[in-house]
Amino acid sequence: MIAPIRIILLLACINSLIVSVTPAYSNEPVRIGVLAFRPKPQTLEQWQPLATALKRSIPEHEFVVQALTYPEMNKAVTDRQLDFVLTNPAHFILLKMNGGLSAPLATLAVTVNGQRSSSFGGVIFCRAAQADITTLKDIKGKTIAVPDTESLGGYLMQLYELNRLGIHLPDDARLVITGMPHDNVLKAVLDGRADAGFVRSGVIEAAAHEGKLDIKLLKILNLQNLPTFPQQISTRLYPEWPLASLSNTDEKIARHVAAALFRLEENTSIVRLMQIHGFSVPADYTPVEELLRELRFPPFDAAPHITSDDIWKQYRWRIVGTFLALALITILGLRLLFTKRKLEAEKLLVQQQSLKLQESEAHLRAIIETEPECVKQLAADGSLLNMNRAGLNMIEADSLEQVVNEKMYPLILSEHRDAFIALTNKVFTGESGNLEFEVQGLKGRHCWLETHAVPLRNSLGQITSLLAITRDITERKQHQKLQEEIKQKLETQLAEITELQLLLQEQTVRDPLTGLNNRRYLDETLPRELSRAKREGHPLALIMIDLDHFKKINDIYGHMAGDAVLEYMSSILTTNARESDIICRYGGEEFLIVLPRMSLDNAFQRVEAWRLMFSTNPVKYGDLLIDVTFSAGISGFPEHGADPDTLIALADEALYISKNNGRNCITCASKR
Ligand code: GH3
Ligand code: MG
Ligand code: MG
Repeated sequence: MIAPIRIILLLACINSLIVSVTPAYSNEPVRIGVLAFRPKPQTLEQWQPLATALKRSIPEHEFVVQALTYPEMNKAVTDRQLDFVLTNPAHFILLKMNGGLSAPLATLAVTVNGQRSSSFGGVIFCRAAQADITTLKDIKGKTIAVPDTESLGGYLMQLYELNRLGIHLPDDARLVITGMPHDNVLKAVLDGRADAGFVRSGVIEAAAHEGKLDIKLLKILNLQNLPTFPQQISTRLYPEWPLASLSNTDEKIARHVAAALFRLEENTSIVRLMQIHGFSVPADYTPVEELLRELRFPPFDAAPHITSDDIWKQYRWRIVGTFLALALITILGLRLLFTKRKLEAEKLLVQQQSLKLQESEAHLRAIIETEPECVKQLAADGSLLNMNRAGLNMIEADSLEQVVNEKMYPLILSEHRDAFIALTNKVFTGESGNLEFEVQGLKGRHCWLETHAVPLRNSLGQITSLLAITRDITERKQHQKLQEEIKQKLETQLAEITELQLLLQEQTVRDPLTGLNNRRYLDETLPRELSRAKREGHPLALIMIDLDHFKKINDIYGHMAGDAVLEYMSSILTTNARESDIICRYGGEEFLIVLPRMSLDNAFQRVEAWRLMFSTNPVKYGDLLIDVTFSAGISGFPEHGADPDTLIALADEALYISKNNGRNCITCASKR
């Protein structure tokens, strides 16, 4: 018993070894494995015509179709027991990733309600009577029948949709794995072993078509209304099954098979037997791969081995971008750091400079504060901004706070105020100026100040305030005032002295009693008048008068009366006198008159007129009327001489003659 078994096993091993190394282009039949998602007999019945069709196209080869479950097909591919595989897309990707399959040669096209379709999807359904399930979300917590957890159309497509709604299987529902075919799922749901079920599209319609199912008993969830896809469907569409060759399949046979598949005409009897529409050019299976990848299903269930190359290929732009961003951040960071340090250094420098500035400012402030002269700063409206101690002392303020922001004008005496305002205005136009003015301090002390004011400008060159340096000149002013007073007094005194001198001078040439010039005056002027008469060639008369018996008048009426007579005589002589006439009281009661530019005759007539007036008009003295006469003698230039003494002597001689002739008469000097 043991020996025959050993022999059989040995033969099987040898056979499998031979098969695994024997190429398909030998006389061995070409084997096509078809996934049996429905019962194997039916699968075989459906796909057997494919072998017939290929034999017709490629007569030199025999073709065998094998219906295989998932594990059977996996093993057959691993053991190289097949040449071609027709399976669902997810299974194809699993086999391809495991290295057993090449790229798809063709994609199955099926006839769905009379139309060609290369796509399929998944169906989620429940019994029509199941009231608590109306939407996909109602699936949560229910029992779900699925054919196989590796089935694309029977599990993965539905899982992908539920995942998107936040329902994660198998955690959020209880699964009942029915195993293939998908008809098992229909049975499980209809029998009540599950609340809902997943099958691939077309299964329900096929079962109904075969009379195994009353389609009204079921309710399709999340039913998609796709105009180009006529079957009931709950998920998005994915490409139909691919037909792929194994990696060891002869390439020539593969080409011939592919060509034969594409040549299959629709609506031929063979194609109808297979219940398909034919084969199309290979579809893009990337969406299926992405679905499996997202669901982390085989072959993407394990964490992928990622090499640095993979990372570089997939993320190189992100890596480069990140690197550039990091480099930029680093550069900017360094720059920021550098700028920060530079700013800190500059800040330190500024602080040091500021400190120095503060020190020098404090130093300057101390100097200003101890300055004996007033230093003050005024605003344009004349209000005080700052002032040193000397200034505060000048205006008798106790502290700066007492006067700061106050206007200075009220302290200035009214007569100087306009001048001070004018100076302020002038400084604010950019000029400097000086002013002396008087102020009255806060405690009433008056003082004179002399100020020099200049404009103060800011960094923009704008005038911001007035800076004035002021000193107390009260002492100097008092000294000046004293000097002026002394000068004025001296000038007054000098004027008085001059007046006195003139008076004295006057007195020396004037007779105090009559106001007439005296003999001295005559002695000084007669030579001058004679010289002029000679120079100009005009005549000059000289008259000597002596009152008659004047001694008696004194004796009879008194000396005072005699004086009155003398004054009266003087008034007669000066009445109607010319500017050029010189009338002198020559002695006690003698008068000498010089008449320039007058001939002897005219002079005689004039003296005669005086004589008549004097002799006929008694002198009034109180109640008295005093009769007085005078005698006169006349000499003249050029008739009697050209020098004063001669002319005086001749006039005196003529007077003497008048006296001797009985008085009260006039005698003209005889010519020599
Ligand atoms: P005769 O006619 O000869 O001149 O007589 P007489 O009296 O005028 O004589 P004589 O000339 O000698 O006298 C002058 C007098 O005049 C003497 C004197 O007292 C008087 N006499 C002189 N001066 C003044 C004077 O100022 N006032 C008065 N009242 N008399 C004066
Ligand atoms: Mg006399
Ligand atoms: Mg006389």
